[in-house]
Amino acid sequence: MRIFHSATQLTHAPALEFSRGEAMPHRESPVRVESILAALAAAGFPSAECPEDFGLGPLTRVHATDYVEFLRTAWSIWKSDMGETPAYPTAWPVPGVGSRKPQSIEALLGWYNFDSGTPIVQGTWEAAKASAMAAIGAARAVQAGERVAYALCRPPGHHAAAAMMGGYCYLNNAAIAAQSLRDNGVNRVAIVDVDYHHGNGTQALFYDRADVFFGSLHADPCFGFPYFMGYADETGMGAGEGTTVNLPLPENTGETAWMAALDHLLKRVQAFGADALVVSLGVDTWEGDPLSSFLLPATTFPRIGDRLAGLGLPTAIIQEGGYATAELGENVVAVLRGFEAA
Ligand SMILES: [Zn+2]
Repeated sequence: MRIFHSATQLTHAPALEFSRGEAMPHRESPVRVESILAALAAAGFPSAECPEDFGLGPLTRVHATDYVEFLRTAWSIWKSDMGETPAYPTAWPVPGVGSRKPQSIEALLGWYNFDSGTPIVQGTWEAAKASAMAAIGAARAVQAGERVAYALCRPPGHHAAAAMMGGYCYLNNAAIAAQSLRDNGVNRVAIVDVDYHHGNGTQALFYDRADVFFGSLHADPCFGFPYFMGYADETGMGAGEGTTVNLPLPENTGETAWMAALDHLLKRVQAFGADALVVSLGVDTWEGDPLSSFLLPATTFPRIGDRLAGLGLPTAIIQEGGYATAELGENVVAVLRGFEAA
């Protein structure tokens, strides 16, 4: 299995996030990458390849040009005003406060961001771009004939929409991979999102598209982040009606119910008739994950890989969440091994 990752992805390292009234160490830390790389090496996987730089073109196929430009320049603008302090948004254009695009860097941070956990710090743009390049690298490898490729993406991507960061995500790596496949001749692409959290950004990007399927099983948004999307009655619109499938699950969902939901989702992928598969792989469904209420034991993860491989499609696996850093790598490797063993 070819693996894509670059050390540039580690340059983004925000120190703090805010949770339940307190500043706490940021969960989406470079330690996550160390955990995954160590487990891959211990399991005998080949070393990660540094992807080539595919430029901004594939990013703006998914994201708005002004948003990409904001991400590229925000830190230098912020720094010239504020110094080296991290750039957190403090106000958001929610309904009722107006919807005119602001000009100041402080206001633009809220304009392009839906939560407080996704700051811009030194290296954020470089890391987010490198993470997207890893995803494109995996997509290209699959297109060139690999059965499966894994992109160790970090920061993650599935909460990022066309002009919106949030949920630790800046560029939507899975969506960029899917669009890259489409732009290079794959007719129909399915994205299966198995992260604990709903992939709101990915859903929004392809909601009216007939050529890209998005299916997700996740914490019911009635209690789980990102809260405002991911309900079962969201099924796509226009030409995309029926190509979005959401399977929200209750708190404390265990292996039996989770695997039944996955099997149901994979039947929908088969009915869609995909030519390639992109997996948003979060392992924050693990029973010990600090951000999750699901109860999947570690023994579920090889089964997930086995089921995904069972679709028989060229597959790009894109890393999303997973925050129990001691066990993260082993859980990811378990999925990849399950896929390869199938
Ligand atoms: Zn997640």
